[in-house]
Amino acid sequence: MKLTIGHLYPDLLNLYGDRGNIQCLMKRCQWRGIEAETKTFEINDAIDFSSLDIVLLGGGSDREQKLVCSKLKRIREDFRQYVEDDGVVIAICGGFQLLGNYYATDDGVIEGLGLIDLETEQGKGYRLIDNIVLRSDLVSMPVVGFENHGGRTNIKKNKPFGKVIYGSGNDAQSGYEGVVYKNVIGTYLHGPLLPKNPQVCDYLIQKALERKYRKPVALAKLDDTQEEEANAYIYNRFKGKTSRPQKQEQLV
Ligand code: GLN
Repeated sequence: MKLTIGHLYPDLLNLYGDRGNIQCLMKRCQWRGIEAETKTFEINDAIDFSSLDIVLLGGGSDREQKLVCSKLKRIREDFRQYVEDDGVVIAICGGFQLLGNYYATDDGVIEGLGLIDLETEQGKGYRLIDNIVLRSDLVSMPVVGFENHGGRTNIKKNKPFGKVIYGSGNDAQSGYEGVVYKNVIGTYLHGPLLPKNPQVCDYLIQKALERKYRKPVALAKLDDTQEEEANAYIYNRFKGKTSRPQKQEQLV
């Protein structure tokens, strides 16, 4: 078996080591004898979505999101077909916002791909910066990460990725974080997300294999002792505490 991962625009959208998620996907495939390759796309490259099994869209500053947004129209229809055909996507922070209809900032509206009916508005006064812990019904372990966003996202009637245990999540009010639509996960969790949350990584790999090979797939178990320790350390550090988003000015 083989999976091909498409990494979209790492030259612009790669905050806080989002690239580590690619390494994690590759390794957890290879450790099981599943071949994995990554194709990296820059902003002017043509993308053949039919050759991809997992797409990663990372986070970026408002400035970088604006640059990406100016080119998104060219890939919108192909990307939409891929998503509607159950293509697997993991989109982080700025990438999550770009899946939606728009991100309204004080400097203007950044048009999104409109692949999922959600909208983001820049919050007034402060950014949401902190560690974050969730419970997601996609996995049994808690999901842990780090968030840093000015945008507040309204996912409307869509299903969230998780319920916030500690941290702010989509808008610091709803108590929910991220979005799940078909085989797409959009989330504010940087960190990188997948090494600290191996079950989320395996969820993506399993969905991609099942879509490609059109049969149920049971992934071989790996020794996740270290990953589980890292995850539990963060979970135990923050469970039961109250998040205090920091009032600070930052560009991203
Ligand atoms: N620029 C976006 C925001 O501030 C996304 C930031 C990010 O990807 N960390 O909301």
